Amino acid sequence: MPTFEYAPAPESSSIVDIKSSYGIFINGEFTDGRGDGTRKTVNPATEEVLAEVTEAGAEDVDRAVAAAREAYERVWGPMRGADRAKYLYRLARIIQERARELAVLESLDNGKPIRESRDVDIPLVAAHFFYYAGWADKLEYAGLGTTPRPIGVAGQVIPWNFPLLMLAWKIAPALACGNTVVLKPAETTPLTALAFAEICQQAELPPGVVNIVTGAGETGRLLVEHAGVDKVAFTGSTDVGRAIAKAVAGTGKRLTLELGGKAANIVFDDAPVDQAVEGIVNGIFFNQGHVCCAGSRLLVQESVAELVLDRLKRRMALLRVGDPLDKNTDVGAINSAAQLERIRELTASGEEEGAARWTAPCELPDRGFWFAPTLFTGVSQAHRIAREEIFGPVLSVLTFRTPAEAVEKANNTPYGLSAGVWTDKGSRILAIADRLRAGVVWANTFNKFDPASPFGGYKESGYGREGGRHGLEAYLAH
Ligand code: NDP
Repeated sequence: MPTFEYAPAPESSSIVDIKSSYGIFINGEFTDGRGDGTRKTVNPATEEVLAEVTEAGAEDVDRAVAAAREAYERVWGPMRGADRAKYLYRLARIIQERARELAVLESLDNGKPIRESRDVDIPLVAAHFFYYAGWADKLEYAGLGTTPRPIGVAGQVIPWNFPLLMLAWKIAPALACGNTVVLKPAETTPLTALAFAEICQQAELPPGVVNIVTGAGETGRLLVEHAGVDKVAFTGSTDVGRAIAKAVAGTGKRLTLELGGKAANIVFDDAPVDQAVEGIVNGIFFNQGHVCCAGSRLLVQESVAELVLDRLKRRMALLRVGDPLDKNTDVGAINSAAQLERIRELTASGEEEGAARWTAPCELPDRGFWFAPTLFTGVSQAHRIAREEIFGPVLSVLTFRTPAEAVEKANNTPYGLSAGVWTDKGSRILAIADRLRAGVVWANTFNKFDPASPFGGYKESGYGREGGRHGLEAYLAH
């Protein structure tokens, strides 16, 4: 098939002003940490150091929680919902105004393609603040009791795959309900959270309502275990989620956990093949596969497996892997050396256990962390690549013959976050969706998000819902 050469189309990074070092954001101001020093954040596409970021210690977490408590009791808790809404609308509008800068910053720190940060992440961030601003003065109509009250201080820990979007998912509903927050971004992607701290200053948000403490896992542990925190919200790996659940048990703190996934993307023989192939590609290669709800297990009906795989390989060969700031790039850099190592280890286990590996032909840059789009066929349900979250651009392909077999295989996982169904028949979509143990089921599409739609999992994918009216529940006392 003829292909066209692309000229590079890089987005300029001159719009962002990255400081050489950052303090932590407490009580409306950036302050030096009193903890263990600093840590560097790098651009995963080039391995260049972007900035030095504070490693918040116990004293810093104490200060941040105290500031959040004070702001909760004096200002934000007692404030009328309609006034809180004005601040949230203001945050949303500033995010829109600074969207291009935030998109470039996110792509630099995370490695995701600018096309995604510009067209998906940042618009959704603004949409979340707009959406929850709308709820702030209507909480008594949310169906969660006639006198809904905030919980208090929320300790929030987020991962590196959607840094600013996960911040929005956590902070927007918390603030709308009258809580104050201390948030810890992931150690490899702190920069957009720090930019958000500047946006809080720009919006003249009362000091202490939002506090950002940077650092590694230890800072997260100090935050979730802090006695002054009333509610913990975590998104990340199942192992850390489990440790947090243990630490929080018996303390009276409220907890929501959004953990991993191993979603089945089920393609029936009556599905429109080209549309399904686009959906499979979007399901697993969006954001380099660093997506908790990624369609990482393709379940394809045996009668169309060959056809679907042929078209899928042809499509994968056209994916452009490389510079995240290039507007033509489909697949960017892997977020960190550690994550790349994890992907390599799991894919090696796929070959050792007998699955057949196919990798899209593409040239990878010399520097930075990269992994070419890959799929495995001949995968059995017992293989590690069918059970564990690879969290990279790697698809495991399994086949089925009957709808019952598809459902059984789809549900044969410790996770239960999302699933996809591709078929021409509406009745089949409804029947299958009803039997899938997954928090979100997409039909003839994949990886679609909306602030009005609740998101969350079953089993080891965690508990609680984020987004929509359901997302308010986690931040209201009842
Ligand atoms: P983690 O679960 O370790 O990281 C998520 C967040 O929790 C980060 O901010 C992290 O800090 C923090 N953290 C780490 N340890 C603790 C602790 N004991 N108490 C409180 N907070 C803590 O994920 P990883 O980055 O290690 O990724 C490992 C795997 O997890 C991935 O390969 C993927 O499979 C899965 N994952 C799933 C995500 C999802 O959305 N479901 C998101 C990210 C990862 P720090 O960044 O400093 O480690």
